[in-house]
Amino acid sequence: MARYTQAKCKLCRREGTKLFLKGDRCYTDKCAYEKRPYPPGHSGRMRHKMSDYAIQLREKQKVRRMYGILEGQFRDYYHRADGMKGVTGHNLLILLERRLDNVIFRLGYANSRDQARQLVRHGIFKMNGRRVNIPSMQVQPEDVIEVREEARKIPVINEAQEVIARRGCPEWLESDGANFKGTVKAMPSRDDIQFPINEQLIVELYSK
Ligand code: SF4
Repeated sequence: MARYTQAKCKLCRREGTKLFLKGDRCYTDKCAYEKRPYPPGHSGRMRHKMSDYAIQLREKQKVRRMYGILEGQFRDYYHRADGMKGVTGHNLLILLERRLDNVIFRLGYANSRDQARQLVRHGIFKMNGRRVNIPSMQVQPEDVIEVREEARKIPVINEAQEVIARRGCPEWLESDGANFKGTVKAMPSRDDIQFPINEQLIVELYSK
């Protein structure tokens, strides 16, 4: 399945929540979901009773779209989470949260996960002193991620740093903006993911 390249704001309206796919704009009154908080299309404002399956499906799509993961990859993450110790739903979210592209976004070196993914692919980051270009890499505690020196003047990185100063960095990460560096202080926990997600619905969907 190809990656979704249409208007991102439609995805938020479709999923009935803000997915924060467009950087700073998402935090302003220009946000399309704030203006039109109903699904796109002619029947968008009509109320439909959703089946249990549809509710579970929408929750999965919401999380998949938020992290920008393809369907097959998302299912792989689920199976991996299911094979780990602990609560499958928590494991799933933590695996997604530990992706390098998400960490770059959380540290404020990109305005969105999409943008982070592109920047990682262009090889502008180093992890523990080595150049990395795989957005799906999983970070570990004590990993140090930095913007390569020659890329520190890229405008989007500087813009994103201004946004993170307002938005804040999660507790499991430490950002050292002056040195274009970030450190993974600890593994993220479920409580570090503040976005409203009912991961149990996703587990129920895949358990059928
Ligand atoms: Fe979603 Fe951001 Fe668009 Fe708002 S501005 S609808 S949060 S992508």
